[in-house]
This record gives sequence, C-alpha cells and structure tokens, in this order.
Amino acid sequence: MCVEKVAESSTNPEPIPKENVTESQESHLNGKKLKKFYIGSIDQGTTSTRFIIFDGLGQPVAQHQVEFTQKYPESGWHEHDPKEIVTSVRECIEKAAKSFVDQGHDILDIKAIGVTNQRETIVVWDTNTGEPLYNAIAWPDTRTKGLVRELKSQMGADKLQEICGLPLSTYPSSVKLIWLLRNVKQVRKAYDEGRLSFGTIDTWLLYHLNGGSAKNVHVTDATNASRTMFMNLWTVQYDDGLLRFFGLDREKIRLPKIVPSSCPDSFGAMASGLLKGIRITGCLGDQSAALVGQQGFSPGSAKNTYGTGCFLLYNVGEKPVISKHGLLATIAYDFGRSRKPVYALEGSIAVAGSGVKFLMDNLGFITHPHKISELAATVDHNGGCVFVTAFSGLFAPYWIDDAKGTIFGITQHTKRGHIARATLEATCFQTKAILDAMELDSGHKLAELAVDGGMSNSNLCMQTQANIIGIPADRPAMRETTSLGAAIAAGFAVDIWKEFDELKEINRKDRMIFRPNISKEESAKMFKRWRRAVEMCRGWLDADEYDGDF
Ligand code: ADP
Repeated sequence: MCVEKVAESSTNPEPIPKENVTESQESHLNGKKLKKFYIGSIDQGTTSTRFIIFDGLGQPVAQHQVEFTQKYPESGWHEHDPKEIVTSVRECIEKAAKSFVDQGHDILDIKAIGVTNQRETIVVWDTNTGEPLYNAIAWPDTRTKGLVRELKSQMGADKLQEICGLPLSTYPSSVKLIWLLRNVKQVRKAYDEGRLSFGTIDTWLLYHLNGGSAKNVHVTDATNASRTMFMNLWTVQYDDGLLRFFGLDREKIRLPKIVPSSCPDSFGAMASGLLKGIRITGCLGDQSAALVGQQGFSPGSAKNTYGTGCFLLYNVGEKPVISKHGLLATIAYDFGRSRKPVYALEGSIAVAGSGVKFLMDNLGFITHPHKISELAATVDHNGGCVFVTAFSGLFAPYWIDDAKGTIFGITQHTKRGHIARATLEATCFQTKAILDAMELDSGHKLAELAVDGGMSNSNLCMQTQANIIGIPADRPAMRETTSLGAAIAAGFAVDIWKEFDELKEINRKDRMIFRPNISKEESAKMFKRWRRAVEMCRGWLDADEYDGDF
C-alpha cells in the first residue's frame, strides 16, 4: 500500500464544540457578522437518505441516515416508493435536528438548507392531489432497453447528444417517462387530461418539504434538469425539439421550472417540523454536489464518487464539451447571479458499491460492505479473474445495453478472495477507460483524482485505483462531500460565502493520497485483459431476447 497517511480516518469526526468556533468560521449574512452558523443538507441517495448539519468549517455536527426499500419487481426493474423517500427525509431531518439541539445548539443558527439527490430517477404525480401515480423508476432500471432501441432508429436520434449532452440509453429520465406513458394507464390518463406532474427526486422532495399542493412549488435545478434529456445544454432551458422527439406536449405535462443550483428564493422553505421556516437555497444532483464538495471549481479538476454506481466528473469550464468518446456532457453546477453555468464531462459507471452489495446480499461472501477489503486481501491478486459487473448493461464509455454481468478466467483454484478483488477492480478499470476517453475529448491528462463515496472507504480499492490509472487518488477524511456540496450551494445563496476562495480551508485536513506502486507495464497488462473481457461481453443476448429475459 502506498499512502501518505496510514491510519484509516473516520468519516464522522467528533463535532466541534460551540465555543471553539474560529475566525475562519465567521462570516457575513445580510451585512451582519456571524459568529456561528450552520447549514443543513438533505442527501437523498439511491440506497439511503441522510441529513447532515455542517458547521462553517464543513464538519458534520449532527446527522442521521436511514436506508429505504429497494424494489426489483422484475428482472432489470428498479423502483422506489416515492412516499417512503419523503418519509425517510423527514425522519432524518427530525432526528438530526434533535441531536443538534441536544448538543446545546440553537436551531436559529441554521441559516439555510441544501438538497442533493440521486439523479435521473423520476416520479410522476397528479397535479391536483399530489398523489404519485406510480413508483419512482430509479436510474439503474433497464426496462426501457427495447424502447431505447426503437428510439435510436427514429429520425433525429443522432442529433440529440449535441443538444442535451446525453446519448440515448436506459439511463436518462426521458425514456423512463415515455415508458410510463406507454405502459401505465393512470399515467396516460393524467397526461391526456393535463394533470400530470413530472419531476426528478429533487422536485418531488421540494414539492413536499414546502407543504405539497398547498404551496405547489415545482422547481428543479440546472444540474438535475441536464439529466432528463429535455434540457438544451446551451440555453439551460427546455428544448422544444427535444420534447417533440419524445412526443411530449407541454400543454399536457407539468415540467418543473429550471433555476440555478444556488438560489435564495426559488426552492421555498421548510413547511413543518423542527426546521420549519428555514429556507432551502441550494439544490444539486448528487454527482454535481460531490464536485462542489471536493471544490472542483477550476477547469481541469475532477472527482470520482464510488457510491452505488461510480461517477467521474471533470470540470470543463463555461462551455459544454460534447464527447466523441462515450462520455456525457452535463451541467456541473450553476451558482446563479452574475456567474455562468459551469459544465462537466461525465463518465458514469452503473455498478460500483452495488457490486460489493451483490457479493454480500446475493452470494453471501461478506456480512458488511467494509469486509470486502479483508476478503480481497486474502489473496495477492485476482488469480486471472476479471468480473465485468454489467448488471444493468455497461455505461460509460462503452454503452453496451445488452451486456450482462460476466466473470472470466474462473479455474479450479478460484477463491472468493479472487472474485472480491475482481469486483473492486471492475470499477477501477472502468474509471481508467473513462479517464482515457476524457483525455481524448479534452486534450488534457489529469494529474490527480479526488475520490469519495462509500466504496472509497476501502484502502485496497483506492490503492488499486491509483495503480490502474497511474496517478494519485486523493481522498478527504470527511467523505460526505456530496452533502457538503449541497450545503455550499445553499450557503452561497444566503451570502455565507461569496467567493470560492473563501472555501479553501474547508475539508482539507487529513486527506489521504494513494500513489501508484506497480509498474506501468503491469498496470497496462491488467487493463488489456479487462478490455478483452468487455469485448467478449458484447452480444450476449440476441435482439429477440431483450426485455424480461434472463
Ligand atoms: P449512495 O449515495 O449511492 O447510496 P454511498 O456513497 O453511501 O452510496 O455508498 C454506498 C455503497 O458503498 C454501498 O453500495 C456499499 O456496498 C459500498 N461501501 C460502503 N462501505 C464500503 C467499504 N468499506 N468498502 C467497499 N464498499 C463499501
């Protein structure tokens, strides 16, 4: 292992006592000097929800996290109960706020709340009643494979990416909505009668936290909107041509208003609970939030978040770069006021931590995700095994819809440890393929990769990552960077911070740097084998074997 700091740092450092607030935590709000301030952050992820209250140094002071139900009603389908998601958010807010008060803090010192969320996942509801008309269809869901094939052959399909930055695949919100309109009677009826509301998870949460139909807040931020395929990346507004391509009539569907990610007056305020009245002033899709939380503010900086899936965002500045090498173009963040939106190239990997969970839940290899490193360390290498974890096809930079998870190289000697290693390596190899594509698209080679997310807790995985990409992986001690990013967006809107420079001290302490410790030749040999495995995954299913087949 080649790390600069050896001890594994805690993700939940001790709270800083109130009296220890330093000069650097002082800031200004509406011209008044503030001694103490806190910002709440709702992080609604794919498998769990959390609410964290940060102090001015970006340290968590109080937090609560709950897992919620994952529904897999058919092979390839992945749903969430929209009401359970709202309940999970409320529970996290109330429990964290109570702990905050129990520590002697004052709720009035919480100056704003930010929201960050799993992206692409959609909810549809009845505009009149606020009742959801179907479960939320989650981003990894692949029920739309057949529909995507059909849309790809439609005139204009080849022009979509230049407008919205995303290629047609099962991943964006658009195809999920079209599937609902074609297959769920009550959704179609609501659309025909002009009472269908559509939203990504941020929109659904903001609607409810503001009091539902009583206030009818219906907004989204530019980062979330840029994942729908309905937004023009250049104008940061809905695009009639895109909506026409998907056959949507704007008279019949209520789309959320697109606003900047940091905004003092568009996201409303908490309508109930312990934080009633506190303004919501930040909103970012989770990967954008992580980029902000890692302070990837300058063009050329990048971060990789190893959560359920794994997402690499590379800041390209104030103009979008449309990828020619299998990456997505997206809004990185939009801090509004006089600032222009900032764009990113993105490499999305569908399976990362969910591969670890698969070994735990489906194969019983481990009893907790953190045990994966121990199991992988029982062997020195992968023993020739390469695991293409294509449970929902392969995303960037390959975009193979018909691949299925495949383990190559199994012999009589293969042990669980080899499979565990191969599972961790799969995400690291895809990250390498994404970085290669980014280099081709941007013309720049990355010097260092900032990392975070659940799976980045594994030192073994991060060392493997550094070895495979040949550059250092830089991991913060406080790894709740997604939540921190939403808090930063919220803080900017209420003038806690005005310039990115003021954030310099935040979350810099005790970072751990993993440096490559194998030769370039060895690394290239491993990657070559991975590339061969990906090629061998193609075309596993015949065209007539698509939906529902296993
Ligand atoms: P999300 O926000 O997508 O729900 P998180 O960032 O919370 O994801 O990460 C959760 C994922 O990280 C889980 O899928 C889990 O398997 C994986 N994970 C958590 N801890 C570890 C660990 N120590 N080693 C490897 N994987 C881990």
